[in-house]
Amino acid sequence: MAYQISDECIACGACAAECPVSAISEGDGKYVIDADTCIECGACADTCPVGAPAQA
Ligand code: SF4
Ligand code: SF4
Repeated sequence: MAYQISDECIACGACAAECPVSAISEGDGKYVIDADTCIECGACADTCPVGAPAQA
């Protein structure tokens, strides 16, 4: 299952810079993960200061 970013996201952009497959982009007020591109590496969850990304 791909990772998803919850509404806790403060749109800092740190996760997008760490994603090895560029699956994360800026959405409407928060960042979003393209489920078809995500390889479930967990780097976004490790990087996020508020714990917003989680496996769906
Ligand atoms: Fe990118 Fe890995 Fe996060 Fe998926 S789990 S969005 S591949 S950093
Ligand atoms: Fe949002 Fe966390 Fe990504 Fe920052 S690192 S954009 S708070 S999900």
